[in-house]
Amino acid sequence: MFNFHTYYIIDEEPCLLNVDVADLQPSYPEQVKLSIGVHPWKVTAAWRDELALIREAVRRTDVWAIGECGLDKMKGEALSLQMEAFRAHIALAEEVQKPMIIHCVRAFDELLMLRRELETVCKKECREPQPWVIHGFRGKPEQAKQMMTKGMLLSFGHQYNVETLRVVFSEHLRRSTLNAQRSTFTFPFFLETDDLRLSVRQIYEQVAHHLDVDVDLLVRLCDPLPSLFSHQKP
Ligand SMILES: [Zn+2]
Repeated sequence: MFNFHTYYIIDEEPCLLNVDVADLQPSYPEQVKLSIGVHPWKVTAAWRDELALIREAVRRTDVWAIGECGLDKMKGEALSLQMEAFRAHIALAEEVQKPMIIHCVRAFDELLMLRRELETVCKKECREPQPWVIHGFRGKPEQAKQMMTKGMLLSFGHQYNVETLRVVFSEHLRRSTLNAQRSTFTFPFFLETDDLRLSVRQIYEQVAHHLDVDVDLLVRLCDPLPSLFSHQKP
C-alpha cells in the first residue's frame, strides 16, 4: 500500500516522502523514498540557490522523484517566476531521469504547454520524457481525460471528484483491454495522504468504496514501482 505523496512517515508504510532540501536527513527507513523540489508557494527570487542544493540532493538513490514543484495561480509569487523555477525542475528531472510530482492549481494550460515543449525536445532526441504525476488531483472528468491523453498521470488524495475517479478507472480498463498484449501498460493513478497525518489505508479504503472494487485490487494497481520507479529499485 504505497503512499504516493506525503509529508509524514506513518508506521512502516512505504511512501514517497516530500522533504524540504534544508530538512534532508542523511538516511531514512528502507520503505521511505523521497521527492525533493521547490514548492510553487515557496518560490522566491532566491529559488536558484535552493535549486543548487536540490541538484546535489537528487542524485541520492533514495530520491525517487523531483517535486513537488509546479504552478499555482491562487497562491505564491507571480506566475512568470513560478514558470521559471518550474522549467528548471523539468530540466533537472530529465537530466537525472527521475519522474516529477506536480502541484498545479488553475494553471493547466501552462502545464500542457510545458509538456508539449518537452515532448518536442524529446522527440528530436529520440527519447521518452520523464513521467509527470499531478498530485492531489481534484479536476473534473474532462480535465482528467485531457491530462491522460497528454501522457500525464494523476494522484488522488482525500478530496477528489468521485465521477473523475470513476471515469479515470474505467478509461484505464478500456485502454488495458485495447492494449492487452502490452503487459507494461501504466495504471493512470496513485493515492496519497498529502499534508494529512494519517494512514494511506484510509484513502485506499475510501477510493475502493467509491470504485466498488476490492482494496487488494487497488493495492496491486496503484503500486508505482513497476511503472515509474522499477529502474530505481535497490
Ligand atoms: Zn501540492
